[in-house]
Amino acid sequence: IVTIDNLHKSYGEREVLKGIDLAVNQGEVVCIIGPSGSGKSTLLRCVNQLETTTSGRITVLGEDITDPDLDIDALRARVGMVFQQFNLFNHMTVLENCTMAQRKVLRRSKGEATKIALKNLELVGLGDRGNATPAQLSGGQQQRVAIARALSMNPDIMLFDEPTSALDPELVGDVLKVMRSLAQQGMTMMVVTHEMAFARDVADRVIFMDQGVVVEEGNAAQVITAPQHERTQEFLKRVL
Ligand code: ATP
Ligand code: MG
Repeated sequence: IVTIDNLHKSYGEREVLKGIDLAVNQGEVVCIIGPSGSGKSTLLRCVNQLETTTSGRITVLGEDITDPDLDIDALRARVGMVFQQFNLFNHMTVLENCTMAQRKVLRRSKGEATKIALKNLELVGLGDRGNATPAQLSGGQQQRVAIARALSMNPDIMLFDEPTSALDPELVGDVLKVMRSLAQQGMTMMVVTHEMAFARDVADRVIFMDQGVVVEEGNAAQVITAPQHERTQEFLKRVL
């Protein structure tokens, strides 16, 4: 449902993506690993056009999203994204966070948006916290709200950029559990993560990136347990 062909991205003179080719199929979980600065976040951000691409082509559900006439709101409804920093609106309640884009972008009624938000809050284990503000929640809970908010748009694919990196270790498990259950329910996911156990257990495919290129890809067991490329081996030695 996502195809990336020969994607290049530069910031000024600096080329940070140097010809990425990648296809993600319906229901597939693709984990992206690699050292800091290798371009993982930039790649994800190109898929929902938080970054414009320099050259190459990205299609989402058959539509070319590098087209300048693209309806960005419609794209972002189809492509949900969860960030390392949760990016919730702190002056709104949990429920308002989960209904605002539904109402503005999808034009759902308040009643319908609330119903959908509550269903997704339930799914992430926070069905009873709709009236809380983000400040009243732990980091792990806030991140689960961010997941519920994205799911409330009924996305076709979810992008996760190191969703657990900003969390205290004891809160990581709850967020990973939600992500595992999403994967089991067949959600298509692209996940940038340093959680190698999660990648090994949940990913259908693991991509190792370094310096703006895909160095190695394969099923999780292959790439994480028996990496072929020297750069992958070195990276894994450092993080495992
Ligand atoms: P990390 O693991 O630290 O999150 P990453 O693999 O996600 O790293 P990116 O954030 O994609 O890496 O960054 C790739 C390169 O692009 C880095 O060298 C970074 O400094 C550069 N870069 C990222 N965003 C910008 C920007 N807005 N302007 C200029 N350079 C940028
Ligand atoms: Mg990053």
